[in-house]
Amino acid sequence: MTLSRIELDGVGSPSALAQRIHELEPDLPLDFSMEVLCRRLDIESIEELPVSSIAAAMLLMHPDKAWGSIVVAQGTSPRRRRFSIGHELGHFLLPSHRPFEGTQFACSHADLRLENTGEANRARKMEAEANRFAARLLMPPQRIRGNHKCRQPDLAEVVRLSQEFNVSKAAMARSYVDALRECLALVVVRDGWIEQAHRPNDFPWINHNIRGPIPRDSIAHDHGLSPGQITEMEECEPETWLGPAGVRKVEALSEQVLAQTDGWAMILLHAELAEQE
Ligand SMILES: [Zn+2]
Repeated sequence: MTLSRIELDGVGSPSALAQRIHELEPDLPLDFSMEVLCRRLDIESIEELPVSSIAAAMLLMHPDKAWGSIVVAQGTSPRRRRFSIGHELGHFLLPSHRPFEGTQFACSHADLRLENTGEANRARKMEAEANRFAARLLMPPQRIRGNHKCRQPDLAEVVRLSQEFNVSKAAMARSYVDALRECLALVVVRDGWIEQAHRPNDFPWINHNIRGPIPRDSIAHDHGLSPGQITEMEECEPETWLGPAGVRKVEALSEQVLAQTDGWAMILLHAELAEQE
């Protein structure tokens, strides 16, 4: 690896910065070493420490960003650890990212899930941007598409790709929905309640609330699967998930469920949009 930080000068957006790194290092394997990459980019050490119960990862750095040092909470799984390191590297490399006066970046589990880079609150915007950078660095959209082996979107592919890219299934599922050309959304549920929804802009509005119950007529309701099992991608009534305006936009809606441990499950929704008049 010959990459150096000077070659990234002037790149300010999270996606462009991740893309630039891949352009400069086109032969990076899918599961490349974050340690080696970080060392090339002036991160002097990556440590695991029992950081406080609220922080999942931290970036300690020189005020003018001459060097940085990353701390990841002890006990973080290896795949989540890669994402946490990517997130802190994002804070280090993104020129506009500065911690508040007299502090360092200390990022919580909730920070590591923020997605809205258009957020008005500066602190939350920086967290969402660091996540965007980590996702695009670890799972570049073109490499997801290039390694996708099914004709149709499929959660079994999400599981397989998460292994190839050495990332968590949750992180891969979000990047997969963003990368594929099809109109997809991801809903994460626990014990029958909706916990998160990841819905790119082209996907019609989902008519169910976060922290509300999953729809009674959905395949996910009473799926009866054991952890690790996946249903077929099956067509469902669009009304199951979508409100009237959404229903008018789609020709067909399909749903697929992956059961996980502790009552968690992932639902992939695939909408085929009606032709615009
Ligand atoms: Zn952060």
